[in-house]
Amino acid sequence: MNNLPDKIVGLYPPTIINTPDGSRFAVYSGSGWFPVDDEFTQEDAMARWEKWTPESKPINESINDKSWQVESSKKGSFYTVRYHNGHWGCSCPANTYHRGKECKHVKQIREKNS
Ligand SMILES: [Zn+2]
Repeated sequence: MNNLPDKIVGLYPPTIINTPDGSRFAVYSGSGWFPVDDEFTQEDAMARWEKWTPESKPINESINDKSWQVESSKKGSFYTVRYHNGHWGCSCPANTYHRGKECKHVKQIREKNS
């Protein structure tokens, strides 16, 4: 009996670990150790793995106020996309200059989360 969530988000691929006392675990970075039986293979573990990316999970998850980190086209710098009381916003320059028009970061997050 393997009682694992269908999708487990983690930064690194999962590994199977056999402990000296005979237990077997699927280990997902950031999510933890899940007990599995001998039938559970590395492939089964990989099938459930979803690679973590900065925009895959809101950094703040209340219903009317969510925010995400989005990597800018310049690698290594991040903008904050925010959903607040039905309005979308972003900390990038494009979003500030073109008021009322949605920047690509908002669009990217909105499409993933609708
Ligand atoms: Zn933006």
